[in-house]
Amino acid sequence: MSQQTVEKGYFGQFGGSFVPKDLQRALDILEENFEKFKNDSTFNEELAYYLREYVGRENPLTYAKNFTEALGGAKVYLKREDLNHTGAHKINNAIGQILLAKRMGATRIIAETGAGQHGVATATACAMFGMECTIYMGKLDTERQALNVFRMELLGAKVVPVEKGQGRLKDAVDAALADYVENYQNTFYLLGSAVGPHPYPTIVKHFQSVISEESKKQILEKEGKLPTAVIACAGGGSNAIGAFAHYLDEPNVRLIGVEPEEAPTLTKGVPAVIHGFKCLTLLDENNDPMPTYSIAAGLDYPGIGPEHSYLKETGRAEYVTVSGKEALEAFQQLSKLEGIIPALESSHAVAYAMKLAPQLSKEDIVIVNLSGRGDKDVEQVFEMLKK
Ligand SMILES: *Cc1c(COP(=O)(O)O)cnc(C)c1O
Repeated sequence: MSQQTVEKGYFGQFGGSFVPKDLQRALDILEENFEKFKNDSTFNEELAYYLREYVGRENPLTYAKNFTEALGGAKVYLKREDLNHTGAHKINNAIGQILLAKRMGATRIIAETGAGQHGVATATACAMFGMECTIYMGKLDTERQALNVFRMELLGAKVVPVEKGQGRLKDAVDAALADYVENYQNTFYLLGSAVGPHPYPTIVKHFQSVISEESKKQILEKEGKLPTAVIACAGGGSNAIGAFAHYLDEPNVRLIGVEPEEAPTLTKGVPAVIHGFKCLTLLDENNDPMPTYSIAAGLDYPGIGPEHSYLKETGRAEYVTVSGKEALEAFQQLSKLEGIIPALESSHAVAYAMKLAPQLSKEDIVIVNLSGRGDKDVEQVFEMLKK
């Protein structure tokens, strides 16, 4: 990367590590091991093996012909993270971090989860690698997502409902951090998005960068040129940073992150420290992280990865919002036109492509990162459309 900004986990003014001393010690050990193994050829061969044989990479970059013709502008390609085992990009990071955990001698994995998607990816990877797995989940979330709790248990994980606070994601993160501080000698905290204190945003980006490593090679093979724009939805920002990574040094490629209008962290946020790092954050009148309500559970987070905060500040990436209603429309359009049901999160990226592509010429190419498949959302959409 030519962007010389990663100075001890800082991206401009964002990132860093604002945590108690005990936790800092665990994070320093993690950083040291990550730096050691990320360039280790045996480690990387093992990672490549599991991404191929278990996750099903590389996944296709599909030309969405019908969708393109309906929009009447730029050619739209879909990067198919929806075809990964477990149906989304989260497994890329779960496999990467668990291999790191194994190298570090950990026997136990812990993770936080909101709606359950990261919990399921973690439980899946733990089942395959024979690791003990504990997932912290807000009590309220365990009630709302009972099926995902069962799915994690089926995969052999222990799900701990967190009653403290509001029983939501933030409380699950706090419980997981408390466990980590206590047990870091044998326990690895597998964090699910490009957020948290250093070195997590850097680790998650590293393991998600496979998305743009593949898409860049694929678009050059298919079209002989780079895309005009890459579009990805942004919750914590892991699929987006993975989709952007290999284009950061290509100034002619527009990088566009799409947030829900209902949780516009990058569009409306201010610099603040949450969950141990500094990022653009939505704060309420008491300067607490604001509760957000997106129809897409995976986008419902008041903060965002520090690197996105920085890319927004420098203008290298653009961040836009679409409404839940527009995402719902995109969900139906892509299903009907391409036979691909996108996750509601990914539908936000699809919705923005529907606005952008018609403004561009037929010579332009747009890549939409389809972060996940929408099977998990069909029942929710059914209920929403009934009303
Ligand atoms: C979790 C999730 C997201 C949001 O997380 P990021 O870290 O922003 O990528 C987006 N899409 C899907 C399908 C998800 O499961």
